[in-house]
Amino acid sequence: MKVINKIYIFITLIIFLSIGFLYHSILKIDEQTKNNIEKILISKANYISKNVDEEIKKKVEKNLFETLKNNPKLRIWLEDAFSISVTPSFKYIYILYRDKSGNYRYLLDGSKEDKGEFNQRLNVDKERWDKAYDTKEVHIIMQNNIDKLFITYLKPILFNGKVEAILAIDFSTTLLYTINNAVAPIKKIFLYIFAAIFFLLFILIYQIILNIYTKKESITDPLTQTYNRNFLRDFLKNINLSKYQIAMLDIDYFKKINDNYGHKAGDYILAQTAEIIRDSIRPKDVLVRFGGEEFLIFFYKEKDKKTDAFEISQRIRKSLQDKNFSYEGVRIKLTASLGVVLKTGHYKTIHDAIKKADERLYLAKKQGRNKVVAQDKNSLSNSNNEYVSISDVKEALDHNRIICHYQPIVNLSSSEIVKNEALVRMIAKDGNIIYPNSFLDVIHNTNIYNDMTKMVLDIVFLQIRQYKSKISINLNLSDILNTNIYQIVLEELEKNKNLANYLTIELLEYEQIDEEILQERLLHIKSFGVSIALDDFGSGYSNFSIFQTLPIDILKIDGSIIKNINTSKVAFSIVDSIILFCKRLDIEVVAEFVHSEEILNIVKDLGVENGQGFHLAKPREKMIKKL
Ligand code: GH3
Ligand code: MG
Ligand code: MG
Repeated sequence: MKVINKIYIFITLIIFLSIGFLYHSILKIDEQTKNNIEKILISKANYISKNVDEEIKKKVEKNLFETLKNNPKLRIWLEDAFSISVTPSFKYIYILYRDKSGNYRYLLDGSKEDKGEFNQRLNVDKERWDKAYDTKEVHIIMQNNIDKLFITYLKPILFNGKVEAILAIDFSTTLLYTINNAVAPIKKIFLYIFAAIFFLLFILIYQIILNIYTKKESITDPLTQTYNRNFLRDFLKNINLSKYQIAMLDIDYFKKINDNYGHKAGDYILAQTAEIIRDSIRPKDVLVRFGGEEFLIFFYKEKDKKTDAFEISQRIRKSLQDKNFSYEGVRIKLTASLGVVLKTGHYKTIHDAIKKADERLYLAKKQGRNKVVAQDKNSLSNSNNEYVSISDVKEALDHNRIICHYQPIVNLSSSEIVKNEALVRMIAKDGNIIYPNSFLDVIHNTNIYNDMTKMVLDIVFLQIRQYKSKISINLNLSDILNTNIYQIVLEELEKNKNLANYLTIELLEYEQIDEEILQERLLHIKSFGVSIALDDFGSGYSNFSIFQTLPIDILKIDGSIIKNINTSKVAFSIVDSIILFCKRLDIEVVAEFVHSEEILNIVKDLGVENGQGFHLAKPREKMIKKL
């Protein structure tokens, strides 16, 4: 809650309490005054009744009723005597007796108005009167129901210890009435103020609750009930970087879940995945939906307690792998990959740390998915594990510090170089060679990436023109789909008719193949005579159906399979099958990662035509035509 809100509530509460206290004080004073006035009046009634009692006792010795009945003069005399005490406050002074049937009748009446006759019946509050009769004690009746406050004072008159009549004094508390009337408007004002402040307080609290609720809504992802990017923005502003470890999670092949079971099933899986992650983390950890099917987890490092984001991430990965999701009766399985950063303190900003987590997630995907990567030693990079900054890449581009190294592809029977693969390198300011693993991901999906591709195309086209030798160039499917790049290739092919015969395009990241336009463009490029190769086949998500759509001439078997071919029966069989498949379709095969004599001999025996790898030739600065 904002401080300002707290202050508002505090001030209103103080006002509310002060007014309440004042109101309570006024009520108390009002009551005390009333009590005091009542006490004074009652003591005065005591005094009058005592006199009346004495006056009667002077004239009557016993049997009050009989005496008064037979002596009308005495009645008049006594009534006159009583009437002296009648004042505007003590309006009625009279004596009643209880007849045999229990009714009350007048004996004497000293009142000046509404005077009762001897023996005339008067309807009284019998229960109270009887009480005074029976207890022989003074009794006071508060007549609060009467408009002006009234008190009836009852005093039993005793002869020889026996109650023969009751002296009643009715006195009006007009003074009280006046006080009441005077205080009532003040009370009313207080009540109004009270109600107004209460209303204000209510509105304030309502507003605050509403604010909290809307705030919560604006930082929560409705589908997964995790935090969203709005939250992340604020969270990252205040975060103490060294207090957290970070994991970035991405569901593997999530697109296929949408494709196979529908978007609703996808939504359900996303919500369930969030639930499973939530179950595995602790209350102080923070879960954010970072993108479509990507989650960021911040693991809070408790003091004196070991927090191991890697271990928890492994648990999450395992839970997801083991879970049998069920949507509308259909069983769905999934896996996820995670990139983890344990030593966040090593990074300058939280953004750098998140980026690192993302890079490691990327590595986890590259290494076959359903994996947690928490360090860079598994990096695919050959040497330099440090990622460079995007501005370094930009600078290198601006200063022509982007070059190509060339690795021969060798015919395994003749040992002749059939072509060279152009491999992009960046030269750092200090002259060091930087490998693509350290900069391609940094510029992925940026315009700089396109600039880099254009520059590599320029270099390769120039090489072909100058040396008239065959070169293979790596392009992503997205490069072909990029009209700008596609046009550059086409223009060059049209300008330089010979070029096509020297050029091979190696396609990478061939997962999204459902694009008609891709097929059309590749066929067009191929029509010039350019060879199309499929790179890294057999790693990750390799799909044979791609051959139905794309015009492939060459298939390069991924190094991760070739390097195991001497130890793994599976790797051997995969290569064997791929070769058989390619022979049937007249597709040329290249084995990558031929790094030993043993591997060379196996792939040769299997019938692979061409190979590439350190054992055959390392990449070099200058293209060579002969080994
Ligand atoms: P990879 O293993 O490389 O991560 O492959 P992938 O298919 O999981 O990744 P990709 O990024 O190709 O696809 C993610 C898909 O997630 C694409 C998008 O349509 C889907 N997606 C994003 N947000 C939502 C959502 O809120 N609900 C559903 N059902 N799908 C979503
Ligand atoms: Mg995914
Ligand atoms: Mg994704």
